[in-house]
Amino acid sequence: MIFYYFVPKEKKHTQKGNDMENKRFTKNDNGFICKNCGKEVLPLGYTSRNHCPFCLCSLHVDINPGDRANTCGGILRPIKAEPDPKKGYIIIHRCDRCGEVVRNKAAHEAKIQPDDTSLIIKLTAGAL
Ligand SMILES: [Zn+2]
Ligand SMILES: [Zn+2]
Repeated sequence: MIFYYFVPKEKKHTQKGNDMENKRFTKNDNGFICKNCGKEVLPLGYTSRNHCPFCLCSLHVDINPGDRANTCGGILRPIKAEPDPKKGYIIIHRCDRCGEVVRNKAAHEAKIQPDDTSLIIKLTAGAL
């Protein structure tokens, strides 16, 4: 006779609570169709992707990153980019509906669909 032991797997809660920045960060990494260029944007896998890697446009749907709590829904268009010693690049977006200016971290080092670096570099020069 054979005995089977079913050991219930413990649910692991291995959320890293050491990142202060992630406290207000809602994980919402779902991928989307870009409202500006119509391309399919795949999820990043490690963090919320909040803008299109092809045209760098985003949607004005967040108040805090990833919370989708903003009802504006306008297209955030990149107006400028700044090199950042820690984060690589910061893309500065302006909403074409309400005019709010928001700063977003670029995902130019992503493995899947990285941000268009040549576009970011053009933006650091202020030309688009
Ligand atoms: Zn796009
Ligand atoms: Zn807006």
